[in-house]
Amino acid sequence: MSLDPDVRIDSRCVRLSAVREAPASYSHDFEQARIEPGHAWCLCNTSNPQRLVIRRKSHAGTAAAFFLAGWPEGGESHHIDCPFFKEAEDESGKSSESKSCFEESVDGTFRITPQFSVSLKVDTVVRKKDPIESTPRPSETTRGATLLAMLQYLWSETGLHRWRAGWNRDWGRVRYEIMSKAEDGQIGRRPLADVLYIPPRYTPVGAEKNKAEFAARQEPLFVSARQFLEAQSRIAAGKAASAVRETLFIIAPLRGLKESQFDSYQIQLGHIAQPVYCKAPLMQRLQRRFGRVLNTLSAEHGHVIGLFHVEGTPRGHLQLLDAGFMRVSSRFIPVDSSYEETVADALVTANRDFSKPVRIEIGADSLDGKVLADFILYDTASRRCYMEVYGVQGREEYEARKREKQHIYRQNGVEIWEWDLTRTREMPALLPRVERTAS
Ligand SMILES: [Zn+2]
Repeated sequence: MSLDPDVRIDSRCVRLSAVREAPASYSHDFEQARIEPGHAWCLCNTSNPQRLVIRRKSHAGTAAAFFLAGWPEGGESHHIDCPFFKEAEDESGKSSESKSCFEESVDGTFRITPQFSVSLKVDTVVRKKDPIESTPRPSETTRGATLLAMLQYLWSETGLHRWRAGWNRDWGRVRYEIMSKAEDGQIGRRPLADVLYIPPRYTPVGAEKNKAEFAARQEPLFVSARQFLEAQSRIAAGKAASAVRETLFIIAPLRGLKESQFDSYQIQLGHIAQPVYCKAPLMQRLQRRFGRVLNTLSAEHGHVIGLFHVEGTPRGHLQLLDAGFMRVSSRFIPVDSSYEETVADALVTANRDFSKPVRIEIGADSLDGKVLADFILYDTASRRCYMEVYGVQGREEYEARKREKQHIYRQNGVEIWEWDLTRTREMPALLPRVERTAS
């Protein structure tokens, strides 16, 4: 179970759950604490209080509504079960390059600099499709975030790569976590929540309402697609015109792919009835890039989450512009192979505390030379057990990397659990859980 730590706001000590349930009751304390010392305290580790950011809800209307967020740095100093806990920098998949694509402010807001355009513009001057974004371009060494990087970032920022004993997680929970995070984000110059759709978990009761809500989200795509094409033909005819074509990002499970007519594919998304169409050349590109992940859908009954960037067609269809895919376990822990899925499922079944470091993929990112474990188990005697699944690939480069990792771990004297597929197909027993004493 997650800890419900005491927090201190100004001079008031109270349970975090109480603040979350009725933030208005603490408005005065929040106001005071915002002036001096400028933050609140998390008391999860009584001997070592941690600073918390006091944030004001942006759409709160007239009544000020405050809430607490983790401090950008030092998340690892919180108790491991504290909701504000974050893995230490050297155990996270972030790098200097990923940080330039995902800029985080002290107040808990963040901005994604994408590699792609969030909307398209035509006007008389440019006479062709042109990115509308005039966002500051990423620095020369940065190419901007890909869709996969964006998905991985949102996943790890919302703690979906983590598990604690007693937790449960379904699609509804995943959606809730990412939607809440999106409230604090921008992509280029747009609020992320305005351009992101995550379908609610399908239930027969909610189906009609969800369908209507999704239809409302799509309407601007179709309307702007018609205006965009009209403007294009006006410009082609030598007349003045301008239009902006809206796009939408959808995060959903991938259910299936099938060939359809007119040299295109139909993509079936989880919790959404209507398909997304994908042109053959784009599908070929996605197959080249994500083939291994996409194949797990049919071959290994794997679970795949996609970030689908779509536009509307004038006839009311959703058309894929690009996508990023990530394999996950049945409880939505990111995994790189069926063996990692076996480990993730075994850890969840055994009710263990662990995280799966997610390497945020940006270009030829080197992770600043960090070594990332496949899993980190927190509830063993040493409180840090690095878990490695060594695959069956015998490539020299892979073997060298494996030896390097083993060497670094041995040098640092850390507790290691290894599953070497070249030796056995059977998962070795997990290290025993050792109960923590309350701190
Ligand atoms: Zn804490």
